[in-house]
Amino acid sequence: MFDVTRIPALKDNYIWLLRKGASAVVVDPGDAAPVLDVLQKESLTLSSILITHHHKDHQGGIDTLLAHWPSAKVFGPAQESITGMTTPLRGGERLHLVALGLDLQVMAVPGHTLGHLAYYGEGRLFCGDTLFGGGCGRLFEGAPLSMCESLARLAALPDDTRVYCAHEYTEANLRFALAVEPGNRALRRRADEVAVIRAKGLSTVPSTLAVEKATNPFLRCKEPEVVAAARARGIAENDPVAVFAALREWKNSF
Ligand SMILES: [Zn+2]
Repeated sequence: MFDVTRIPALKDNYIWLLRKGASAVVVDPGDAAPVLDVLQKESLTLSSILITHHHKDHQGGIDTLLAHWPSAKVFGPAQESITGMTTPLRGGERLHLVALGLDLQVMAVPGHTLGHLAYYGEGRLFCGDTLFGGGCGRLFEGAPLSMCESLARLAALPDDTRVYCAHEYTEANLRFALAVEPGNRALRRRADEVAVIRAKGLSTVPSTLAVEKATNPFLRCKEPEVVAAARARGIAENDPVAVFAALREWKNSF
């Protein structure tokens, strides 16, 4: 089993550092400085960089990391422009990261961007800006249907999967979730817990898929209270994709 270290970066990003022995892999290094700091302090060798999508806050640090670790491999979405990419991926591949003895499943999860990838292995999911604590990414490039399908693919993983998303957005997301589904007791409990965690300056990530499925409105588009909330925003049918689209629109201006 590998260890995961959280590296806070930029405004509210998390860079995830996977490590075993003296070897390390980073996911979405939007900034190199805090990563170099950890690698150097702990005498780790960077063997690979995993990128979920092309946004600068997820890949801005690649250049500098490669200057220090020129033989590191860079995995990322084939259809997006990723600095120094050595291994373009489309989803469906299995990666074997030799240095960590780790097998990862690559999943195509378009919606936030068209090539967005998620990486899953040993019960951990690194999902970038697709699924967040209590929410989901904005649809910058994809359509509601493709994001719904992507979220369904993630939700089909085992309930105890730990969800390592790339931003600390949970508290604000849960405020929105409560507006959608005020009668959800698990959600109210989670919102209270998260408020306490954030008041102490601690992180709410990772969560688990079980928690997300019970409280994240974007995974609950068939639940009667969620459907009713979307219908109150003007949609005419109960189709889960239409419900999802209405929620996403509503959240954009919440
Ligand atoms: Zn993004």
